[in-house]
Amino acid sequence: MDSLELSKIEALKNIILEWFYKNRENYSFRNNRTPYRVWISETILQQTRMSAALEKMENFFLHFPDLNSLAAAREEEVLFAFKGLGYYNRARNLLKGAKYVVSKYKDIPSEYNQLIEIPSIGPYTASAIASICFGKLTPVIDGNIKRIFARIFQIEIEIKNSLFLSQLNLILLKMFNFNILNPGDLNEALMEFGQKICKVKNPQCLTCFVQKYCLAYKNSSVNKLPFITRPENKIIVNWKLYFFINNRKVLLNQFNDFYLLKNHIGFPSIIEMNDEKFFSTHGDIYNNFLSNYKLHNFVNGDKHTITNHQIRFSYCIYDLKNIEINGEDLFWCPFENVENFLVSSGLNKTWSSVYDQIFARGGT
Ligand code: SF4
Repeated sequence: MDSLELSKIEALKNIILEWFYKNRENYSFRNNRTPYRVWISETILQQTRMSAALEKMENFFLHFPDLNSLAAAREEEVLFAFKGLGYYNRARNLLKGAKYVVSKYKDIPSEYNQLIEIPSIGPYTASAIASICFGKLTPVIDGNIKRIFARIFQIEIEIKNSLFLSQLNLILLKMFNFNILNPGDLNEALMEFGQKICKVKNPQCLTCFVQKYCLAYKNSSVNKLPFITRPENKIIVNWKLYFFINNRKVLLNQFNDFYLLKNHIGFPSIIEMNDEKFFSTHGDIYNNFLSNYKLHNFVNGDKHTITNHQIRFSYCIYDLKNIEINGEDLFWCPFENVENFLVSSGLNKTWSSVYDQIFARGGT
């Protein structure tokens, strides 16, 4: 990296921080920034829109104001406090993480390598806690950060390519080395810049204070960056899932000879692909439900990719109280153990959202 590039990185750091100090949002989670509050707020904000998250986040802090109160809580209490914030797996993992920290360290550690070992803390949250609370030079990296730097430095490499990440890391390391005193502020400044100015859609280039340093603006390639390849020629698969529920258990299915995820565990399913249909199981469930699936109301779920298949999940939920189920490949599993059996992130995600619905209506 030549000296011109280095002075550009330093100038960028200075003007983005200056803008941040004048314009930053006064979010409630930015008050009283303990490692615990940063951990909880970053975990919540990663998958929930800011506007939806703020009030509920404060409600969570009212229930569990600090690490020890969370670590001592029962799972049902944590799930209740998490209501409305989406995936309950995150709530369960927060509880696991709090118990882990209290038993191993007593308090939240300061080093990135220790933070990353804690259940529910990934690279993003570990970097945020280490930089904001302990002044460590740990840049956070997410889609926002990738987009900003791909544009300003015109990095024309696919963002999943390791070369992209190594170039980004190089720039960030230089930038953070110019910023010994306030790395947490710099992380937050970059994030807020990405959310408000260098946005995914309609970036504010004409009024952007970074414009004169921005190669993508200069070369009219803002809308082409970051460079993201979209999957092509995927086989479209409609995957219908049945969630049979009974007394806080859900029916799981060992897929012996199913079209996808052979020999793995999922939920009783039907796959429709072109004009073909594949059933994950036979016996009672097949006779009573799967063979008549066109009569049932399926709700659309998420889309997901497995190898070269573009999966469209849909699902229905049935309460099977007092109904006997036969099938060697079927078994009942307590809600809290389900994720231990699922290898597919698509099935896991769909289960999380179904579980949220079951929990929201009072559990079964
Ligand atoms: S000029 Fe446009 S593309 Fe460049 S940093 Fe500013 S908003 Fe982003």
